[in-house]
Amino acid sequence: MESFYTLQGEGFHQGRAAYFIRLGGCDVGCVWCDVKDSWDATKHPKYSVEEIVEKMEKELGIRNRELGSNLQPLTSNLKPIVVITGGEPLMHNLDALTKAIHTAGYQTNIETSGSSPLSGEWDWICLSPKKFKAPLPEVVPHASELKVVIFNKSDFAWAETYAAQVSSNCKLYLQPEWDKAAQVTPLIIDYIKANPQWELSLQVHKYINVP
Ligand code: SF4
Repeated sequence: MESFYTLQGEGFHQGRAAYFIRLGGCDVGCVWCDVKDSWDATKHPKYSVEEIVEKMEKELGIRNRELGSNLQPLTSNLKPIVVITGGEPLMHNLDALTKAIHTAGYQTNIETSGSSPLSGEWDWICLSPKKFKAPLPEVVPHASELKVVIFNKSDFAWAETYAAQVSSNCKLYLQPEWDKAAQVTPLIIDYIKANPQWELSLQVHKYINVP
């Protein structure tokens, strides 16, 4: 659907330079989705894995020359992370794409609802379960980070059902739904003070006006 170089605005890697690859197609149907354009994959052009990775390397190369640095000698932990998002990216088999990104020397992160089978080679899996189509039980234990969007009070209990299923070293985040932030952020703050295993995630990219 699109790809762009920006900062990761949410969760554990918030603030890091990140190249986003947004794949078309989503069958989850969140009422508050802010990328509804992504839902119908047929509306978007198809690209081969080679074309996606070539575009990524070209854009990162150009961008970093503009910024006065040179990515080529850098090891993967000094390069931007590559985040595969959607839509629901796991509607596609991501084995070939993630292998190609790793071969190019970049770390692979995914933002997923976990509602489709897991594929791909991942350095980081951000699982953001959605009530509209629950995650597959076999995907949940693979989460590096659990990020639950809070839309109303009942979402705290929903968050806890998944916190009980992730691994013990999984990071736990509560994130206010953007349009409800004024109402739910104070509830999240109180909840985290009472349950310090959780942390607050804000969509920082929206505050600083970057994609
Ligand atoms: Fe939108 Fe993501 Fe929900 Fe799909 S899973 S409807 S892309 S918020």
